[in-house]
Amino acid sequence: MERKRFYITTAIDYVNQKPHLGTAYEKIGADCMARYMRLAGYDTRFLMGNDEHSTNVKREAEKRGLAPLDYCRSMSDVFTGTWKSLGISYDDFIHTTEERHLKAVTALFGKIHENGYIYKGKYEGLYCESCEEFISEKDLVDGLCPRHKAPPKRISEENWFFALSKFEDKLLDHIRSNPGFIRPKTRENEIVSLIKGGLQDVSISRAGVDWGIPLPIDPRHVVYVWFDALTNYISALGYGGDDTELFDRYWPADCHVIGKDITRFHCVIWPSMLMAAGVAPPRSVFAHGFISLGGEKMSKSRGNILDPDKMAGIFGADGLRYLLLKEVPFDKDGDISVETLVARYNSDLANELGNLFSRTVAMIVKYLGGTIEPAPFDSGCELHGALTEALAGYRESMERMEFSRALGSWWTIVQGANRFIEEKAPWTLAKDEANREKLKAVFRELLMVLRVSAAALLPFMPGKMNDMASQLGGGGTGIDELLAAPSGADGLRPPEPLFPRIQEKPEDIFKD
Ligand SMILES: [Zn+2]
Repeated sequence: MERKRFYITTAIDYVNQKPHLGTAYEKIGADCMARYMRLAGYDTRFLMGNDEHSTNVKREAEKRGLAPLDYCRSMSDVFTGTWKSLGISYDDFIHTTEERHLKAVTALFGKIHENGYIYKGKYEGLYCESCEEFISEKDLVDGLCPRHKAPPKRISEENWFFALSKFEDKLLDHIRSNPGFIRPKTRENEIVSLIKGGLQDVSISRAGVDWGIPLPIDPRHVVYVWFDALTNYISALGYGGDDTELFDRYWPADCHVIGKDITRFHCVIWPSMLMAAGVAPPRSVFAHGFISLGGEKMSKSRGNILDPDKMAGIFGADGLRYLLLKEVPFDKDGDISVETLVARYNSDLANELGNLFSRTVAMIVKYLGGTIEPAPFDSGCELHGALTEALAGYRESMERMEFSRALGSWWTIVQGANRFIEEKAPWTLAKDEANREKLKAVFRELLMVLRVSAAALLPFMPGKMNDMASQLGGGGTGIDELLAAPSGADGLRPPEPLFPRIQEKPEDIFKD
């Protein structure tokens, strides 16, 4: 029997700065997928969270004169506030300072140790404190960490190691026998060649650090922050605790959504940790690309466009969700600018979808008093073929998490319906009482397109599409149910516009 369960997660975020647009993009993509799967009838669980055991977090707290835990709590409010205002529908939000997480890390570490994959050794080498990652000489650029442009620290300490090198063959087997384990394919190729190049054992403890989870077998050490962080995906399901109902129900995860810069942790180290503990590895890891701004990598200095709350203030939360998922293909990198976002908003949302909705409803009210007795929407209808085709393309792309393509497919029917209005010219038909049945037939088709659009686009724009469905009279119905039911209207009222045009010039938008 097909497994009708879906467990999706995002990376957990360091809380030493507030969420930026790139972080928001990841959560919006994962949310879109979670909502799609819920509507498709899957028992869905969507996990997000914050990564709090980071030296960077502790340092930031100290800078503000706060206890680390108090600082983490206040940042948690900042993060969850942004996620709620963007309509992110997570079912659970984990903090790595929680008791349930401590239990899971302790239990997972214990299992791996018990199975003989942890040993004591000496680590001598380089460590980038900003990455919180051990870094090898050959990865340095001019002696600096390529990501942080900062010199790494040379450390020499007695550490506990995880025998990652023992998992080369098991990992390759897992990748080979589970097509789609690493998506997109380019990332799979990178990981396969990394494994084939040989894996080294990794240090999984830090000495002399007091912010973290004490190593169960040697409390002078804390668990290395990445081992700690990765475990969140199972600690949120109660692994290592008394109640394993959620773990039994949802593990293994169907999809870890992460940025493409942390694939090594998720596709190599994490599945190996799980295999070492005798736990099934996740079913898939999806590495999304990055957003650049006007051709340049985003950075703090580039101003307000990076603030998801400010952006949502301009485009609306739903507008922002739509624009990011449309403009940046989820599996690739993409470039945005204020100009392209405003142009896209005005063309797709204000002109095409918004206008299709407003003029259809306004004409039904004006010409037919808001009511049309229902009749079947079948293959005899002119838009039936185009709608069916758009739906097939949309579904295929959604399954692959290719959101931009899914929207592209859907817009073929949105644009087709607008052309249909021009061709049928209801304003002319309405002049002659003899055309009344023809006029109703035209609007039945348009109503069906709009209602199915509200359902198909709900994962992208939950607020606006609920609003559209309720103005059309209805909502809460799946696409197949809508298509099978007769199309009509019952007491429609003059429409409230969904996507008011943005009138300001793009260059004026971020002037405070
Ligand atoms: Zn670094």
